[in-house]
Amino acid sequence: MANMSLKKNEMPVQEPDVRNKNFKEVALGYTEEQAIDEAKRCLNCKNKPCTTGCPVQIDIPAFIAKVAEGDFAGAYEVIARSSSLPAVCGRVCPQENQCEGKCVRGIKGEPVAIGRLERFVADWHNAQPETAVNKPASNGHKAAVIGSGPSGLACASDLAKKGYDVTVFEALHVAGGVLSYGIPEFRLPKSIVQKEIEGLKALGVKVETNTVVGKTISVDELMKEEGFESVFIGSGAGLPRFMNIPGENLNGVYSANEFLTRINLMKAYKPDSSTPIKAGTKAVIVGGGNVAMDAARCAKRLGADVYIVYRRTETELPARAEEVEHAKEEGIIFKFLTNPVEIKSTEDGWVKSVVCQQMELSEPDASGRAKPVPIEGAFIEIDADCVIMSIGTSPNPLIKSTTSGLDTQKWGGIVADEAGKTSKEGVYAGGDAVTGAATVILAMGAGKKAAAAMDEYMQNK
Ligand SMILES: Cc1cc2nc3c(=O)[nH]c(=O)nc-3n(C[C@H](O)[C@H](O)[C@H](O)COP(=O)(O)OP(=O)(O)OC[C@H]3O[C@@H](n4cnc5c(N)ncnc54)[C@H](O)[C@@H]3O)c2cc1C
Repeated sequence: MANMSLKKNEMPVQEPDVRNKNFKEVALGYTEEQAIDEAKRCLNCKNKPCTTGCPVQIDIPAFIAKVAEGDFAGAYEVIARSSSLPAVCGRVCPQENQCEGKCVRGIKGEPVAIGRLERFVADWHNAQPETAVNKPASNGHKAAVIGSGPSGLACASDLAKKGYDVTVFEALHVAGGVLSYGIPEFRLPKSIVQKEIEGLKALGVKVETNTVVGKTISVDELMKEEGFESVFIGSGAGLPRFMNIPGENLNGVYSANEFLTRINLMKAYKPDSSTPIKAGTKAVIVGGGNVAMDAARCAKRLGADVYIVYRRTETELPARAEEVEHAKEEGIIFKFLTNPVEIKSTEDGWVKSVVCQQMELSEPDASGRAKPVPIEGAFIEIDADCVIMSIGTSPNPLIKSTTSGLDTQKWGGIVADEAGKTSKEGVYAGGDAVTGAATVILAMGAGKKAAAAMDEYMQNK
């Protein structure tokens, strides 16, 4: 029988006062009964508005119908046709703006918990005994993928399934991109990311870590000397931006990327880690996106009192509503309408405090977004011994500067068309390297589109 409840089945979570002291996953996942009950809320709409909201076009009503029948293997099969990273996407996708944002049940209540169901199905699948993967027969063509984030992994997966000999080149010592070095363990356990990467390797994809393309080897060399017929650039947008205010070079100031990399990739929070980290007793995080929430919640777990300083109001916060909610529950203090103008120093060159200008919002401009403007003479000073800058990132210029004939935008993004085709023949690009910082699922969608275009290019060459 259909479940006409207006509310989603709640997701069991660790208690806030417990979880803000550990790095274990916050959300614990549905039981089989909860998943079946939630799946029965789906009306199985014929025109599938949810699927139109999914950048990789998962047949959502079809997988949910299988869950409702208790056929979890069947549900996984439906998802796997379109997505190579369901356990990841079920955890970190902004479903409220995508599939769930289009769900008809959301008109008079809460939408079906599509993300939670996707996660349930992927976790169920991962808990089953491994089955041997049928490696696709080789088609004799060779392709390279630069970067092992979601765009690169999605591209590599689709190419490998078509029989291409694919090598992924990754600068870091661990594959996964932001999924491994940025998003914290308590939102996305790293064992899940590695499991998805192992699945890719089982398809025959080779992953070469510790290879910085542009230093170790160039795109031109990959194509001219190493025999790669086509290359996908999915190198992300990992170059942090700073505010250029006095004191930003003091000890105790981090970019969010560095702070999170130390914690997630180097496991600096573990007593036996050789990588140091210092969140201090009071940490100020500057910014209001998902990255700021992650940095704040990590600093809290390291024992600091944490302030998020954001120059607009709560309404304009770009972070996912769920992340903001979780941050608040964990005791993070938000200072809205405040903008840092100076970081003050102790005598020995460490952060002492952050001076912030108080702001107000002006009338919305042509883009419809209210602009924060300073209130003259209004300042506050927040004591702090750690400051984490989380005001955005851009693509690293290394690949552009070492690849002949590759056009980029002024801000560094690689110029590519809808299918990922760049100005250089045989070279495709996608994900954050093209769009600037965006989302996992958009990066995956771009990787898949590029794989289709690369296939056509290599077959017709
Ligand atoms: C802390 C944080 C939290 C986030 N939270 C969310 C979230 O909750 N939901 C969501 O949807 N999105 C989230 N995002 C955004 C999302 O993770 C990114 O949009 C997505 O990972 C982009 O994928 P990508 O493949 O383009 O690049 P990336 O994931 O950045 O991967 C690029 C890879 O390329 C490698 N690389 C770079 N240069 C070279 C080179 N020269 N040679 C070889 N390798 C190279 C990098 O080391 C990296 O591994 C978050 C981002 C961050 C930083």
